[in-house]
Amino acid sequence: MIVMKFGGTSVESAEAIERVSKIVGSRIKQSPLVVVSAMAKVTDQLVAMGNTAVTGDGSEALASVEALRERHQETAKTLLGEKRAAALAPKLHAQFLDLENFVRGLAAVRELTPRGSDYLLSFGELLSSLIVADAFLVRGVQAAWVDSRECLVTDTTHTRAVPLMEETREKSKKKIVPLLAKKRIPVMGGFIAASADGIPTTLGRGGSDYSAAIMGAALNADKIEIWTDVEGMMTTDPRLCSGARTIKQISFNEAAELAYFGAKVLHPLTLLPAIHKNIPVYVLNSRNLKSTGTEITAQSPPSRDVFRAITAKKGVSIVNVVASRGVGVHGFLRSVFEAMDRHAASVDIVAISEVSMSFTIETKRLGEALIRDLEQIADVNVDNDQAVICLVGEDIHGKPGIAASVFNTVAEAQVNIRMISQGASEINISFVVKEDDVPRVVRHLHDHFFKAHARPAGNSAKKKNGVRINGTKRLRKGTENGKSPLRRALAAAI
Ligand code: ASP
Ligand code: MG
Repeated sequence: MIVMKFGGTSVESAEAIERVSKIVGSRIKQSPLVVVSAMAKVTDQLVAMGNTAVTGDGSEALASVEALRERHQETAKTLLGEKRAAALAPKLHAQFLDLENFVRGLAAVRELTPRGSDYLLSFGELLSSLIVADAFLVRGVQAAWVDSRECLVTDTTHTRAVPLMEETREKSKKKIVPLLAKKRIPVMGGFIAASADGIPTTLGRGGSDYSAAIMGAALNADKIEIWTDVEGMMTTDPRLCSGARTIKQISFNEAAELAYFGAKVLHPLTLLPAIHKNIPVYVLNSRNLKSTGTEITAQSPPSRDVFRAITAKKGVSIVNVVASRGVGVHGFLRSVFEAMDRHAASVDIVAISEVSMSFTIETKRLGEALIRDLEQIADVNVDNDQAVICLVGEDIHGKPGIAASVFNTVAEAQVNIRMISQGASEINISFVVKEDDVPRVVRHLHDHFFKAHARPAGNSAKKKNGVRINGTKRLRKGTENGKSPLRRALAAAI
């Protein structure tokens, strides 16, 4: 069996759901389990509705419930036709009745607890999954709606619950395996789950990918498909560089690194359950039925490119902390890190010398309080409008000359580097430049590292780039037919 997950934009309208039904229809032979997000923006609207209700403004919150009802009913009508939509109406109505009652309660008590918030947000996925399941049936895809709260079991950490795999496996086997055996297509909402006592929980915002991975791991899926609205993960942001292209294959570690440094397609940490079980994950484009997208596997397959991708994270500040004379190095660093800890500061890049330390942090997360605290320890100055450029690729490990060619290329672009970092794991090279320099430096790097091999052999640009050619040769030698042992094993298993 396979798991197919469709995000909010893939189910945002009747037209989008129509496409989803075609895509699922094309995979019937692989026994799909379908996981869907709430329709685009619905979860945000539920959050806003909750915030309004707790101010005591029940009528405005109820007006938002009405707007949601209309959107869902209209979508159902377009997809199902009047008659079938009327048959589904009581089920949707029951959900809206629960939602309305809850919102009234919120306006009366004026308090929204994490547990209440999970209950409130669960309506988005419940509604979308009910509509999608019926839309499938009307189109000859034998769907069966499944209540995620009866399969996916979590602890009670409301708003970001942790899955309980053993319990989830047991319940999913009972609920889902019989459906698959009858050639039915189970359709369930992502993101929502329940505790062992049946109390609704959620896996955290954007958690539908996580649901897909958990279900895939629980049911030993052959693969997991994450359908979204772009053609997989890209070598760089296409808005920065027109030459950006889809990454065919990427390792889990590389994908995680990319997500951390600004790639937005999906958060691979949520794919961990799948990766642990060696289930390949695909990121695909629901606007393109033939999409081949990006394949994420535990280990990186060989590639002609030295790097997998280049990201740019803007809106970053450099904080320079310079120890005042007479302060010991040891004590200095400890106090700086303690201050970061007190303010839960999440830093990206750190450079340390004996008497000074520089770090980068997202400007919006750099609080005045942290700066004031650091000023107690040392002299502090802050440079805003900076960006972290990150080149990610596992293949750079142990290869001399890569950093040199990165920094030569940056020099050719006439861009000044403010800070540099390469960890010993050698999976990325990151550095900091001024925000204004981002388009230029990214274009230069992308042209250098991602275009050369597309040119015919013997091209002078290719010769110039000796690092790449060496790297490619070495990679190929270790593998058979250009496939890693893991990929060959997977190909044999599927
Ligand atoms: N609907 C949820 C959210 O917007 C979960 C998801 O889309 O993955 O956060
Ligand atoms: Mg999402």
